[in-house]
Amino acid sequence: MKRRFSIVLAGLAAATSLSAVPAIAGGPTSADIINDAATPGDVISYGMGPQQQRFSSLDKLNTSNVKNLVPVFAASLGGEKQRGQESQPLVYDGTIYVTGSYSRLFAFDARTGEKKWEYNARLPDGIMPCCDVVNRGAAIHGDKVIFATLDAHLVALDRHTGKVIWNKKLADYQAGYSATAAPLIVKDMVITGNSGGEFGVIGEVQARNVDTGELVWSRPTIEGHIGTLGGKPSTMTGKLNASWTGDLWKTGGGATWLGGTYDPGTNLLYFGTGNPGPWNSHLRPGDNLYTSSTLAIDADTGEIKWHYQTTPHDGWDFDGVNEFIPFDATMKGKPMKLGAKADRNGYFYVLDRTNGKLLGAHKFVMQTTWANGIDLKTGRPNYVAENRPGAPNAAEKGKTVFASPSFLGGKNWMPMAYSQDTGLFYVPSNDWGMDIWNEPIAYKKGAAYLGAGFTIKPIAEDHIGALRAMDPATGKIVWEYKNKAPLWGGVLATRGNLVFTGTPEGYLKAFDAKTGAELWKFQTGSGVVGSPVTWEQDGEQYVAVMSGWGGAVPLWGGEVAKTFKEISQGGSLWVFKLPK
Ligand code: CA
Ligand code: CA
Repeated sequence: MKRRFSIVLAGLAAATSLSAVPAIAGGPTSADIINDAATPGDVISYGMGPQQQRFSSLDKLNTSNVKNLVPVFAASLGGEKQRGQESQPLVYDGTIYVTGSYSRLFAFDARTGEKKWEYNARLPDGIMPCCDVVNRGAAIHGDKVIFATLDAHLVALDRHTGKVIWNKKLADYQAGYSATAAPLIVKDMVITGNSGGEFGVIGEVQARNVDTGELVWSRPTIEGHIGTLGGKPSTMTGKLNASWTGDLWKTGGGATWLGGTYDPGTNLLYFGTGNPGPWNSHLRPGDNLYTSSTLAIDADTGEIKWHYQTTPHDGWDFDGVNEFIPFDATMKGKPMKLGAKADRNGYFYVLDRTNGKLLGAHKFVMQTTWANGIDLKTGRPNYVAENRPGAPNAAEKGKTVFASPSFLGGKNWMPMAYSQDTGLFYVPSNDWGMDIWNEPIAYKKGAAYLGAGFTIKPIAEDHIGALRAMDPATGKIVWEYKNKAPLWGGVLATRGNLVFTGTPEGYLKAFDAKTGAELWKFQTGSGVVGSPVTWEQDGEQYVAVMSGWGGAVPLWGGEVAKTFKEISQGGSLWVFKLPK
């Protein structure tokens, strides 16, 4: 009875304004989730708010006392499934919810670390995750906790018991689809993307009723494909064959594998899209919309309101999936509604988030061989034509070029943070290049669709990883912290003038947000590739992060793999606070 009631109200709320979202007994409402950043007593969304600024207003922990930070507990995920732990914990009502490798979800007591329950998705044998069996986090709403699984399902569990409430198929895993992003909750809908860009899938954003899992709308990211709204076809994405030739749009890629952000002020969802298929760009003339782009999507209808393509006609696997973070700042003396994205291609973009107009594009890595800057008038990169990998012929592969960043990106999935105090973005970046060449390829369902080969190489003696503090107004790098191994974890900024991030070498580290001085570190026993969070509990400030080495780097790292071959696998939730 209670469930039917909430379904009816959820439908009403979707059709009216946010203020009409009903309070759901026993858990966070959509309005609570939108307001997450302003309530430091819990963490009820990926990114600590739908804008994903990853900024906490807490300052009990600060630059003068962070040196005293100690563990409260470490909780092991157990089992033999110790692969990359890229998850961000959620914290609500004395419980920490965290996802683990191989599509697992855990609930731990936030005070003691005692396990409350564990859910293991039963995965089929034929799943095809490209880049490790990771998951980035869950969503919470009412009595549910929801996450995506490697066989491209979305699963809602009772957050008190771990029992399945609903389980919906997002896409066909046998065609190469999978799912690893943390879902986003907006207006009683659970909104998520898909993975599989290396298999010629079609990127898509889906919005589902959070109570039932039924589809509300869907929006494919490749031109020519038709969206849905309310169970019926809605509109075509883009214009058929405007930027793709022949039938290539049918296997065009553009996976939305990192999920999206949301700005309540404009009611826009911002989803990044991955590489076009195949990697070999000579096989697909044109800009290949809407791959390697940011899409602004109306949250109620699934219509694309604007797009900005960071790498038109990508030839380097420069997925444009990175988080587009809404923020407000003054540009050229004018207060503006902005959004920023540090792209895999090595440029940091600042756009007007209301219309997608490019306002700034700044290099944030050592090298970008593929382009000499971005033209602010046209919004397009100034390509260096000879640095595009060459076309193969029937007899031999195409010309090999050295390209930087490597396809693993100036920045990959690991989310940056924005401090409302310093006005800086803290970007976890990597300086590396690759030899890349093209080969012939034809699409085959469920097979890799690259038409390219590569070897990743270091480009600096002293580091690959670099945490960089960027001023979005000027593009100036205010400070940087260099790390020997590639950085692969998320960042957290706090009002205590602190910035936290993890390293593959096993440390969670804290830095002075203004100067970059390293103030504290703790060895967690395995590589840290998760995203730290902070919250207040019983009057004290806590910090939590997942430890567990893995992700794309050890699988694809090439020569770079030497820098981290000694790192042990793991799978633990670490929680810290100051001693009493
Ligand atoms: Ca909160
Ligand atoms: Ca890709």
